[in-house]
Amino acid sequence: MLEITKENIEKAVERAKQSNLLVKTIQFRTYKVTNRTNGKSYTVNFYKVSGKKFAECDCPATVICKHIGGSIGWHVVLAEQMHIRRSRQQKARFDALQLQSGYVLRR
Ligand SMILES: [Zn+2]
Repeated sequence: MLEITKENIEKAVERAKQSNLLVKTIQFRTYKVTNRTNGKSYTVNFYKVSGKKFAECDCPATVICKHIGGSIGWHVVLAEQMHIRRSRQQKARFDALQLQSGYVLRR
């Protein structure tokens, strides 16, 4: 598991841009990254631990690799969607609770 920093991820994104990578979602935080040039696929995982971001890839690289760089953009998009969905659900729950108690806040 490697910590993602602004520097190492910028370099990895640059390397990813020069590669012909295809990213597929296995599940949220886990992606299959295929190099369309040589057909090799690797699995990338993202983690967040006490506010710090980490990633791991099962390729032989021991640094934040291009597979991580190639999938982080997609991961960020999904993470934002999850966040929006979650806050909508919370709002719906909050509204339902207000209706149940017969108390509706003015907006
Ligand atoms: Zn990799």
